[in-house]
Amino acid sequence: MAKQFQSVQGFNDILYPEVGKFQHIESVSRQYFGLFNFKEVKTPVLEQAGLFVRSIGNGTDIVEKEMYIFEDKGGEILSLRPEGTAPAVRAYLEHNIDRQDAIQKWFYIGPMFRHERPQKGRFRQFHQAGVEVFGIDDPFADIEVILLADKIVSSLAVKGVTVRLNSIGCPACRPVYLRELKSYLNGITDRLCEDCKRRIDTNPMRVLDCKKEGCMAATAGAPKTTDYLCSVCSAHFSTLRSGLDALRQGYTIDTRLVRGLDYYSRTVFEFTAEDAGAQNAVLAGGRYDYLVELLGGAHTPAIGFAMGIERIAALIDMPAVHGPDIFFIPITEEARVRAIGLADRLRRADKTCEIGYGEKTIKSMMRRADRLNAAMVIIIGKDELRDGSITLKRLSDGLQEKVDDATLLEAVRRMSQ
Ligand code: ATP
Ligand code: MG
Repeated sequence: MAKQFQSVQGFNDILYPEVGKFQHIESVSRQYFGLFNFKEVKTPVLEQAGLFVRSIGNGTDIVEKEMYIFEDKGGEILSLRPEGTAPAVRAYLEHNIDRQDAIQKWFYIGPMFRHERPQKGRFRQFHQAGVEVFGIDDPFADIEVILLADKIVSSLAVKGVTVRLNSIGCPACRPVYLRELKSYLNGITDRLCEDCKRRIDTNPMRVLDCKKEGCMAATAGAPKTTDYLCSVCSAHFSTLRSGLDALRQGYTIDTRLVRGLDYYSRTVFEFTAEDAGAQNAVLAGGRYDYLVELLGGAHTPAIGFAMGIERIAALIDMPAVHGPDIFFIPITEEARVRAIGLADRLRRADKTCEIGYGEKTIKSMMRRADRLNAAMVIIIGKDELRDGSITLKRLSDGLQEKVDDATLLEAVRRMSQ
């Protein structure tokens, strides 16, 4: 029969053993999220499209080109979530969490969707693990969030990672900066790409983030956000830097670092990996002190990050894969009943078991046990059924032992050593 269906472009299946990397990244992330006392939030993958348009902003790549947006049968305009922060803020407000305890530390892990051109490190469905801290404006919250990100990325042994840091000011000082930037950009329009020409009016800071060489060269002398910070932003940034220095957290100041989303203020940071080619950002975050307000809540400072799981997965080694501890080879129906009972006992003792049903002969089942890289096999053949015994065989050296039900677990443990 002809193959009829394929996965949608940019949407990937993640199969074993590659899925082991994802599980590893997720479990290391969960471990540190837990140690830093963050609590998990699971929000839906579908939201009202307006949530993202309002929060991420009209002049951003995500809203302009990348959103999966559609009208459902009830006529509602919905979007697959392109990121996790706006939904977290929506949930924070919808459940009145701010009125119970404004300070919240949340994490999420899940798929995000952006209609981008699929290429290395860039997919249409990808996964992020991220955190959000609500209700703290102290720069030490920024420090802890950056340390947490660094803990995860270092524990995953991602090599050659640089932490880039910048401050993009607040509604008090940014307008002055934007005016200066716009007038600078208006003087160099002939050297900018078409996208950037448009961005001068819609989202001028994004011009600094353009990856095209021409634009990068043209904006080399552009005004820097850090030269325009108000005293409050400036104090925040300097406490942040001295705290990171005191804690020996490495970072480099990158005054061109801006974020592709409108809602950031003050602190922005990105973790980039040397060897990752063009898609080298593995984690990005920053402060968003005005987003909760923008979505209808009380003024609530906040900071967070999102880590790209696929991009990390591309940079780490495959974790060791283990075969089952025991592969059962039962040759008759009666033997299978016994195998299932014994497997249940062994599983309760934390031993991974698989029972052979698909193959007909002992020989073919032995081959399958080998393929699965099982540590041991248990053969329940005619002899074993007759005298109620079990033959246990270690595959690494062929060591074999005949035991009974009562001594099986002990023998398995002995042979595991
Ligand atoms: P980029 O500049 O690479 O487009 P971004 O600024 O759009 O990244 P964010 O919105 O900050 O990315 O998302 C945080 C992280 O999620 C990124 O640093 C990256 O690791 C990952 N990420 C973003 N978009 C994709 C994608 N399309 N495919 C895979 N990972 C992605
Ligand atoms: Mg992007």
